[in-house]
Amino acid sequence: MTPALLPIEQEATKVNVQKQKWSYSRLSMFEGCERQYFYKYILELPYPSNPPMQNGKIFHTGIDLMIREGYSPSESLYYGMGVNGGLPVGEKPYHFISMLNKAYDRIPQLEYAEITSELHLEVKTTLGIVQCYIDLLIDDPSNDVLEIWDWKTSWHSFAADTHIQLALYAWLLKQTRGYVGSTFKGRLIFPRLGIEEDSEVEFTEEKLNEAKTWLVTQITKVQSKDPSNIEDWEMCKDRTKCDYCPFAARCAGGLLDGLPSTGEPKSQEEAELIGSYILAQEAALKKMKSGIKKWVEDHGEVPVGSGKWTVQQGNQNFKCEDVETLIDYAKRQKLDVKEAVKANTAILSKWLDEDDTGELKQIITSTKGRKSFKYVN
Ligand code: SF4
Repeated sequence: MTPALLPIEQEATKVNVQKQKWSYSRLSMFEGCERQYFYKYILELPYPSNPPMQNGKIFHTGIDLMIREGYSPSESLYYGMGVNGGLPVGEKPYHFISMLNKAYDRIPQLEYAEITSELHLEVKTTLGIVQCYIDLLIDDPSNDVLEIWDWKTSWHSFAADTHIQLALYAWLLKQTRGYVGSTFKGRLIFPRLGIEEDSEVEFTEEKLNEAKTWLVTQITKVQSKDPSNIEDWEMCKDRTKCDYCPFAARCAGGLLDGLPSTGEPKSQEEAELIGSYILAQEAALKKMKSGIKKWVEDHGEVPVGSGKWTVQQGNQNFKCEDVETLIDYAKRQKLDVKEAVKANTAILSKWLDEDDTGELKQIITSTKGRKSFKYVN
């Protein structure tokens, strides 16, 4: 059911499993999809950034430069774009400049507080080294307060209280420092959204223990897996995770084996496998289509068989919201009033072309047609 590993990949499984350094992102990937973890950390297959990751990297580079070096938001942004491969499609520089400003403005101006950006911690445990990068640490000894902040560039917010990442960082910080102040808090900052979406958590002993238990549970589970047997690493149940996964084609590749090519299951188990196969194929096709679309946009059409993959520009669309004025115009210009009532894009385009008065420009708007990527014969 799963593609066999190449000999070089089998060798890699033996070596890579030895060099584990644990982190939240690594363990949460395992928790989300064991198979993805296997591909990334055991086989060490390339894991190119997807748009959300790219956004996060650019933002983190930018805000760090503003805090540490005093760069302006635009200088920080362009540096961040330069070192992280540019903005993903659909993002605009002004979105990021606004996010950087909003994030920076939220940092309190405290006279005696020490503010540290991108603090790297490594803690030795009996299960190996655990590391993290704290986005922002605010140490305010005058009020005996210590705060851990984490920047999130997502379009939706979530509660700091239930997000194990902050509590894990808090546990690691406590292992390193010992004393953590009488008030020890964490905060998730969502600079794309309003300040009211930020959320806070107070780190109690119970919270820190929860994080430690999560850490131990995940590491123990990873260590119980057989690195030489891909089947031991389960594919995730929530297949929405596959949408951004670079291994979608790999996962889809080996699934057909043993399933009926008619698509008609003989049992519930086979029905579930076919359902799983379809989801994996859809995720793989989506990724491949977006990859080849980018190729066609950059390099031109790709001939396949008797046709070609191409990008076609849709027609320009015309619209008139003020139909009353349009009817009045039609009457004065001795045009067909019925056509003015219909006001379809072909008529509007024609009348606009022929209009020397300039009146129609004021009431007719146009939008560019959408680009569509398709295979044409
Ligand atoms: S495609 Fe889906 S199942 Fe396969 S590794 Fe990625 S997230 Fe996991």
